[in-house]
Formats: sequence, C-alpha cells, structure tokens
Amino acid sequence: MSLLVHKALVVGGGPAGLTAAIALLRVGAEVDVVELALDDRIFGSELLLSSPNLRALDAIGVAESVVAEGIPIDTLELQTADGAEVARVPIPNVAREGLPPSVGITRRAFYSTLYNAASAAGAKIHHETTVESLVDVDHQVQATLTNGTSPIYDLVVGADGWMSTVRRLRFPNASLPQYAGQCVWRGRIPRRDRTKGLFRGMAGDGKDVGMISVSEEHCYVMCLVAQPKPERIDPASFTVTFKEMLAEFGGDVEWARDHIEEGTVSVAALHWHVMDKPWHDGRVVLIGDAAHTTTPQIGYGAGLAVEDAVVLGEMVAAADGDDLASTLNKFVDRRYERCKLVVEASTQISRWQQGLDGGNSRQAQLTDETWAALAQPM
Ligand SMILES: Cc1cc2nc3c(=O)[nH]c(=O)nc-3n(C[C@H](O)[C@H](O)[C@H](O)COP(=O)(O)OP(=O)(O)OC[C@H]3O[C@@H](n4cnc5c(N)ncnc54)[C@H](O)[C@@H]3O)c2cc1C
Repeated sequence: MSLLVHKALVVGGGPAGLTAAIALLRVGAEVDVVELALDDRIFGSELLLSSPNLRALDAIGVAESVVAEGIPIDTLELQTADGAEVARVPIPNVAREGLPPSVGITRRAFYSTLYNAASAAGAKIHHETTVESLVDVDHQVQATLTNGTSPIYDLVVGADGWMSTVRRLRFPNASLPQYAGQCVWRGRIPRRDRTKGLFRGMAGDGKDVGMISVSEEHCYVMCLVAQPKPERIDPASFTVTFKEMLAEFGGDVEWARDHIEEGTVSVAALHWHVMDKPWHDGRVVLIGDAAHTTTPQIGYGAGLAVEDAVVLGEMVAAADGDDLASTLNKFVDRRYERCKLVVEASTQISRWQQGLDGGNSRQAQLTDETWAALAQPM
C-alpha cells in the first residue's frame, strides 16, 4: 500500500492512462479514470509494441495477455522500392524469455486488453467525462469533473494525449507540439503471407513505406510522406490518393496497394514535442504524449507512455520517507532524457526522410543507437 497516494485521478484512458491505473492499483491506491471517449472501442493506427515496451508491460503483469492479442514479430525485412530484399534483421529481445521481440497489434486490441486489466484490478472508468479544473486544497487536489462531481485526490495523472487538457489547465505556459512536416497515410489489407511480419520499403522521393501484421486476418500498410497538413484533403478521396501515392512501389507494396480495403484509409499529421522540466505541478503530473509527443520513426511513443506509467507506479511505491513532490521530481528526472532521446531521434529521421539536414545516410545508425539506448533499463 502506497503511503503517498491513497486516491488518484487519471485523466485519459489510452496506453499511458490505463497502464498508470494498473500500476497505481498494484501499489494499493484507489483509481478513477476519466476518458472523453464513449466506451472502450478505440480506432486509429495500428501499433508495433517493441521489446522494451513488452518488458514494461510485463512489470505490471499484462504482457502475456497483450501478446496473445497480437502477432509476434521477430524480423525486420528491408526491401527496395521495387520489392527486392535488401536485408533481414533479427529484432533484439530485451524482455524475459517467453516474450517475443515485438508484437504487431490493432490499437483496439491493445487498448481493450489494458482496459480489461485496469477494470479487473478495480479502476473506476468514467466515459464521456473530463476535468474542468484542478485546484490545490491543503495537501490534495480537487478535480471538478464534467459529470457534476468534484472529488479530491492525492495525485492527478494527466495522460490525456498530445492535446492535453491537464497540460493546458496546470501548465499554461508550456511549449506545444509542433508539426513535423510529414503525414502518415495508413490502410488495412488482408494478411497474405501469415509468416510475414514487418518490413519497410524505401523510395528515393521522400516516401517511406512499412507494413505490419496486426492480427490473424490483417496487416496494415503505412506511408510517411513530406506534405503540408492534410486538412484540405477530402476523406472521400483517401483510398484513391493513397493508392496513387504507392504507385511507384513494386513487390509486396504493389500487392498491398491493390488490396487496400475501402473505408480503412486514414491520414494523420505528425507532431513532436518534449515539454521542459518539470512535468509536474504540485500533485499533478503529466505522462505519455501529454509530456512528450513523438513522430513514429522509432515506433516507441506508446512504449514511452507505458514506461512512464510503470515507472511512476514503482516510484510512488518506493517513496520511503519522500514526500510526493520530491518523488515526482525524481520521476521526471528519471524519464526526461530517455523520452527526449526518442523524440529527437524520431524527429531527426523524419527530417532526413524529408531531404533536410543533408540526407538520411545516418538513418540506420541513429535507429540502432536509439534502440541500444532503449535496451537499457527504463
Ligand atoms: C501514425 C502513428 C503510428 C504510431 N505507431 C506507434 C507504434 O507502432 N508503436 C508505438 O509504441 N507508438 C506508436 N505511435 C505513438 C503512440 O500512438 C502514442 O505515443 C501513444 O498512443 C500515446 O499514448 P497516450 O496514452 O499518452 O496518449 P493517447 O494514446 O493519445 O491517449 C490519450 C487518451 O486520452 C483521452 N483524452 C484526450 N483528452 C482528454 C480529456 N480532456 N479528458 C479525458 N480524456 C481525454 C483520449 O480519448 C485517449 O483515449 C504512433 C503514433 C502515430 C501518430
């Protein structure tokens, strides 16, 4: 039982928030989660959960159920734009024996698994609810919620993503996420080769294509492309536009292009951000994308979000003799450089992919260096 946190509010029920709920429940806190969405049906891009992420999920006992919902992936296959194989790179495994080096999974399956684990552990999850204000009262925080209640908490965790309301309420002068100059187009395709995991094909004109198996039936194909923000693109033309974008590719990407499922294509503008320290104000702390948002080149935004939450739970549990302020200070100190490293490496690779800063000859090296750093304890 944590002596510091008897009752916590987690704002946001994504990877950071649901993991934080599980981690805080494990150390004996009561946890309320408020989530804007209607229910646990989450849509959006699919995910690759890498080995350090599975290691973090394992620390709170949910790695195996997450792995059971996804497709284990152990090799990165690199191809040229016309489909010729360049290399097959084994993905390193830093998690314990029995867990795969990485897992492709639908966002919905990942969130649902965390949601079920948080609910089973006792989290009270309030949908279609958010915070209107967070006011310090004595040694606690009073949260005015949109469901008409104003409960009091020992700790408030802002895990409400890159457009964070908690950040706006408690850190009004914080820097904000910046557009990275790239968009990502994604679409779902059937899984043709059940053994095929993940690969990336590359073309010379600033497009970077990847495919990830995410379920027994489906893969998804994504293309990173330098372009202005896509507000002016009509969603009705997404599938046609995406197919045109992939026209120059051969091999597996050509097959994927011909099998993109109508109505599954989406496009997102990529943003990056690392908030300056501190990420906490009194008893309110930001984690996940609310504190640091990354472009997906390293594929570790959800990994950082999960790690933040697990480390927060560990540090609250171990805060023998510390007050909450110094525990949160140490938490942010422990997380800051690791999160900054991923955001900066991802943003640099994004810039190289856009032909900026002298091309991308160091892309593989920077990716390897970043993964080597992430293999170290979180
Ligand atoms: C195209 C793309 C591909 C990616 N691929 C990968 C990948 O393969 N692997 C990986 O590790 N990462 C990947 N990421 C990054 C990853 O998606 C994010 O880093 C991760 O989702 C962050 O988790 P989070 O919980 O901090 O925020 P979010 O996932 O954004 O969750 C925030 C939650 O808070 C809720 N919310 C928002 N505002 C409020 C509010 N005011 N009140 C209550 N609730 C609120 C939202 O509804 C949401 O449920 C990718 C990102 C993109 C854009």
